[in-house]
Amino acid sequence: MKLGNYQRGMLARAKSVQGGVLTKGPKGKWYINLILRLEVPTPPTGGGKVVGLDMGQRYMATLSSGIQVSGGGVKSRRIHLRNKRAEVRSKLDTGRTKGLSALWERLSGKERRFVDHTLHTLAKRIVDSLEPGDTLAIEDLTGLRSRTVKRGKEARHLHNLWPYARFRSLLGYKAALKGVQVVAVDPRDTSKTCSRCGHCDGANRKSQALFRCQRCGYQQNADLNASANIAQRAGSTGAGRRNTAPILGISTLHRPFPKAHAL
Ligand SMILES: [Zn+2]
Repeated sequence: MKLGNYQRGMLARAKSVQGGVLTKGPKGKWYINLILRLEVPTPPTGGGKVVGLDMGQRYMATLSSGIQVSGGGVKSRRIHLRNKRAEVRSKLDTGRTKGLSALWERLSGKERRFVDHTLHTLAKRIVDSLEPGDTLAIEDLTGLRSRTVKRGKEARHLHNLWPYARFRSLLGYKAALKGVQVVAVDPRDTSKTCSRCGHCDGANRKSQALFRCQRCGYQQNADLNASANIAQRAGSTGAGRRNTAPILGISTLHRPFPKAHAL
């Protein structure tokens, strides 16, 4: 059996192996997925910082701590795989051949693995930037309605391209293993509210990239401003606490998020 460092570390940390699933990969290789029981560290209380996470189009993730993860070629590759699959699908409608069906299967697997790998990597990078005892605030985008309230086209795009519920559960368990708590807050108007004075106005959003407050003149990268609002809604004590809002969900391994609708 071939084991990577990550898998080795996880196995060493595991209290027990709960079970496993054996699957055959695309090139005839066999894979085993093990289900492990792990001890979750108790986060140290007090002193941790609250970091807001904004997910958008230009940057896959923007943290209020200043870290931005760009999608790089990820978005175009995803769209490419999608289009290719759509092409094969339309051919399958007119005439089904063995080769075509196999191609369809292969593309589906390819896309699924690509999405999964991307989301894993993104969640890991976010959690790596946090310390035990920190709180990560994310937008509650499980309901379609709150999504459409968010940024219209941008939110729908995100919805179509990346399975949000899957990302949230990955983020939840990776964070829990590090002693980081994830909380979900109301996503409404996070992109058009000023994180300095709290003024909410569609005109604040000068462009996709730039936020400029019509009242106090505060100017900031639009994604960073949004992530600061998200952090504040989770009780961040950073500049201004005007926008605190009820926390909609708390994720730990003991208290999982309410089940999100299938994407
Ligand atoms: Zn302002």
